[in-house]
Amino acid sequence: MIATEKISIQKVSKSRLPEIDFSNIPFGKIYTDHMFLADYKEGEWQNFRIVPYGYMPISPATPALHYGQSIFEGMKAIKSKDGSAYVFRALDNWKRMNISAERMCMPYIPEELFMESLSALIELDRSWIPTAEGSSLYIRPFMYSADEYIGIRPSENFTFQIILCPVGSYYSTPVKVKIEKHYTRAVAGGTGFAKAGGNYGGAIYPAKMAQDKGYHQLVWTDGVEHKYIEESGTMNVMFVMDNTLITPALSDSILAGITRDSVLSLARHWGMKVEERRISVDELIAGLEKGIVTEAFGAGTAATIAHIELIGHEGKDYHLPPIEKREFSNRVYKELDAIKSGSQPDPFGWITKI
Ligand SMILES: *Cc1c(COP(=O)(O)O)cnc(C)c1O
Repeated sequence: MIATEKISIQKVSKSRLPEIDFSNIPFGKIYTDHMFLADYKEGEWQNFRIVPYGYMPISPATPALHYGQSIFEGMKAIKSKDGSAYVFRALDNWKRMNISAERMCMPYIPEELFMESLSALIELDRSWIPTAEGSSLYIRPFMYSADEYIGIRPSENFTFQIILCPVGSYYSTPVKVKIEKHYTRAVAGGTGFAKAGGNYGGAIYPAKMAQDKGYHQLVWTDGVEHKYIEESGTMNVMFVMDNTLITPALSDSILAGITRDSVLSLARHWGMKVEERRISVDELIAGLEKGIVTEAFGAGTAATIAHIELIGHEGKDYHLPPIEKREFSNRVYKELDAIKSGSQPDPFGWITKI
């Protein structure tokens, strides 16, 4: 158990908060006054500290830079009407971070370290949580190898860190996606189920190719046959087909999204028919052609629900019904928003009050 008083706190002398224009916050470019750090050395976590946000000295031989020995998480806090901060499903992010850590040969992060550092940091930078509709505080915990050693081996030293950034709504407009059948994000036996840095670095090039053609994001297909739908950039994908909510079943090449799980839980709670299974590209395209795919969306922390406006496949664009007509995804978005902000009961125990 790490008691909060064991976290040393060095506060900024002057907050940057008054300089921030909260009516116009770009995603991921503005960080709060403070950050949390902990070192893993000689087999244990130590040196818990909150310091002013800023550049850090790092060895040029850090394996995180050379070999991608780094993992991360992403979650959100919202300020409720009564002024308290609510974090959504933080324990699930903690669990997933340890799944990623194991795959990347990194040390286990105890629950107390994760939760108490998170609380202490949010408590300190609480006034940075934006209050405008759709905005929130994005929380980025991450861990990387901090050895000074350029050989490839399991590392001995690590840093666990948390930074915070206020964000507006991520995708204000519906997204255009392209089904990717050439490049691969993750394959069976790889690291796709882990939030490991290299997975994302390798995805930028194919995503850029699609962006040059006017799409926002890719929908990846399986790395072996490119026949089955996997997921999108940092979102799981879901479809309402024939009044059934369908999403690819989890595998080691798909990231187990917490938003995905939340959407499935709500759908089941509402008595909707839900299928987690393989969906072939052919099945999806046939469904689009027949007009039985009434909704398609990405589910992830950044956007919560990103409505998909059109799906590109082999040079052809398939348009989906207008957003206003999408009963399920609109309802689930509203419900999740209400649970997150504490304005709706939380039957699943998803909220932690800070
Ligand atoms: C983070 C992430 C998701 C979404 O996970 P959430 O827990 O819902 O934010 C989906 N796919 C990938 C590849 C991701 O990195």
